[in-house]
Amino acid sequence: MAYSYEAPVSQTLFDRASLVTPGGVNSPVRAFRAVGGTPRFMVSGAGPYLTDADGREYVDLVCSWGPMILGHAHPDVTAAVQEAVARGTSFGTPGEGEVALAEEIVARIDPVEQVRLVSSGTEATMSAIRLARGFTGRAKVVKFAGCYHGHVDALLAAAGSGVATFGLPDTPGVTGAQAGDTIVLPYNDLEAVRAAFAAQPGEIACVITEASPGNMGVVPPLDGFNAGLKEICAANGALYISDEVMTGFRTSKAGWYGIDGVRPDLMTFGKVMGGGFPAAAFGGRADVMAHLAPAGPVYQAGTLSGNPVATAAGLAQLRLLDDAAYAKVDAVSAELRSLVGKAFTEAGVAHTVSAASNMFSVFFTEAPVRDYEDAKKQEAFRFTAFFHSMLEQGVYLPPSAFESWFVSTAHDARALERIAAALPAAARAAAGAVA
Ligand code: PLP
Repeated sequence: MAYSYEAPVSQTLFDRASLVTPGGVNSPVRAFRAVGGTPRFMVSGAGPYLTDADGREYVDLVCSWGPMILGHAHPDVTAAVQEAVARGTSFGTPGEGEVALAEEIVARIDPVEQVRLVSSGTEATMSAIRLARGFTGRAKVVKFAGCYHGHVDALLAAAGSGVATFGLPDTPGVTGAQAGDTIVLPYNDLEAVRAAFAAQPGEIACVITEASPGNMGVVPPLDGFNAGLKEICAANGALYISDEVMTGFRTSKAGWYGIDGVRPDLMTFGKVMGGGFPAAAFGGRADVMAHLAPAGPVYQAGTLSGNPVATAAGLAQLRLLDDAAYAKVDAVSAELRSLVGKAFTEAGVAHTVSAASNMFSVFFTEAPVRDYEDAKKQEAFRFTAFFHSMLEQGVYLPPSAFESWFVSTAHDARALERIAAALPAAARAAAGAVA
């Protein structure tokens, strides 16, 4: 597909990057492989806007894949970071900032009695699983097809396959042994979970699930699904791990837990809690967390864990996220969902706008989407045309039909008007797309 809209400086940067970095990017989805065209190299962000290396401004609906819930370069977060940087950037010792961030997390999320800070969501889920295995003395882990928990070896087993199957690695470099203890089940299917536990009594250490998935597009849990997982885990001596890296501190003050109230044994966090810096966490029941080194025998560590600059950014961001801030993000999301739905309806495009609190995505189908197999049945080719039309008109969407869109408190009336103005042509482009 040819795009009328060129980005020569970004293209030059991408060419340079491709010589020194595999695929030209440091995280695959940034390469635009799913949609084609030139990935935009961004040079700055302010509020709801990003500016690329060609000097074009976009309304940002990615928000760094979730973290920038206050928009870019929020003055209070920037000030906190500048103050922290001026005091020194890393000490390799404990510091008050990490205590304050841990206290903020514990205060907001009742099931988190103790928390350990790490630097990425991947580290958080990897460590939570190790802890669950160490605590239970069991090897097997249940995950759901279409749920992404970072690039942890054991969790890349069939991460992209919707078939209920026993762990087959789906990337080279993950061995059968690493994936072999992973049981991949269809999302929203409690019977499959019951059957897995019945087939392997006493062997399953934990069930890990996205609290409300956003990595196969937005596919919320059916009523009672998370509660059912918790119940099955409790009945079988396994731990229920809720991955809130994406939903945590975004879908409400207490994340998805604040919405469904199902009490996990362990939880993982990232994105919003780092304020745009590499900070993440895992936490939960004090008796389980007590098994972590140095309190207990399960080893886990990090040179930059609890980094003073990252914790200052995260704390500043969380302190600004009061009820009014969530009401604002929810209102922006609701308005945008209605604009998007209207544009597709008017263009005659079969679609579903699927939301979980203020996270949402569009499926190009009217059939219900309850799991990854359903999500894959959508007419994803329409997204490519839609994406590029929006991009040309200055709206930056996630470059894949299987990702959540994110908004912020900074998305004001002007930003929404720009999106509203772009939507009709983009929806018509989607209508006219061919597979
Ligand atoms: N868990 C979930 C639910 C995620 O969405 C992600 C990243 O998108 C991760 C874990 C991994 O986090 P990170 O990219 O910080 O390693």
